[in-house]
Amino acid sequence: MRLRGKRIFISAAAQGIGRASVLACVREGAHVIATDINDEALKALSGEHENIETHRLDVRDAKAVAAFGAGQAPLDGLFNCAGFVHNGTIMDCSDEDWDFSFDLNVKSMYRTTRAFLPGMLERAEKTGGVSILNMASMASSIKGFPNRLLYGATKAAVIGFTKGMAADYVRRGVRCNALCPGTVDTPSLRGRIAAAADPVQAEKDFIARQPIGQLATVDDIAPLVVYLLSDESRFVTGQAVLVDGGVTI
Ligand code: NAD
Repeated sequence: MRLRGKRIFISAAAQGIGRASVLACVREGAHVIATDINDEALKALSGEHENIETHRLDVRDAKAVAAFGAGQAPLDGLFNCAGFVHNGTIMDCSDEDWDFSFDLNVKSMYRTTRAFLPGMLERAEKTGGVSILNMASMASSIKGFPNRLLYGATKAAVIGFTKGMAADYVRRGVRCNALCPGTVDTPSLRGRIAAAADPVQAEKDFIARQPIGQLATVDDIAPLVVYLLSDESRFVTGQAVLVDGGVTI
């Protein structure tokens, strides 16, 4: 059990990569605080394992995040998974789109990290180490993609935030890494495919951009989440860890 006795918080936990990560973490012995704004999907998740605790938490709500953090026992692991994919070029992006994406994809991490860090620092003193994992993407400072201007800008910011956190807290037992998946088959990806003018071609295009010739499944990503939250990765910090099906070969 690679996460035995660890308390782990995960945002956007009700579906997709977040949900698969919750299940992978409890299988490895963690107690997981799974949060989202989708009540129905959270309810379904709560029945999956006795070590899953579900809570509605909107990571865009500064007051709610601060209050939630203050009421929690110290964490061993924080996985900031929430994020939204804006589709389009700079000319398709409104001021509202810009502010929404930066708020959900980046500022939410600032909120949760500030809320949980005091407890995590205490915990790190006792245990020797805690881990923060931030969801970025291969579409970021790593690589540009058409129609991902705003998304890529937010995920590049996540990588910068991650490296800054890692540098500030490396001597105090807090590691901080970013996860950078390629295209993963999740409900939101299915939504992007369905919304395309030609969904069949859109799916082919998503698959074709990975040299490996497939979409990732959520279970291709969750093992990396477990590793980066576990003590096995105790010497890994400040990294943007790619799992991209060969896109960046
Ligand atoms: P998804 O988009 O299918 O689900 C996102 C979840 O976030 C939903 O359960 C939703 O209710 C929740 N959510 C939305 N707004 C929220 C808020 N304000 N507060 C709390 N929860 C909120 O999930 P996914 O596709 O697995 O994506 C998860 C993360 O992985 C995102 O950050 C995404 O950018 C990133 N990512 C996804 C892919 C991919 O191809 N799917 C690739 C690289 C990175």
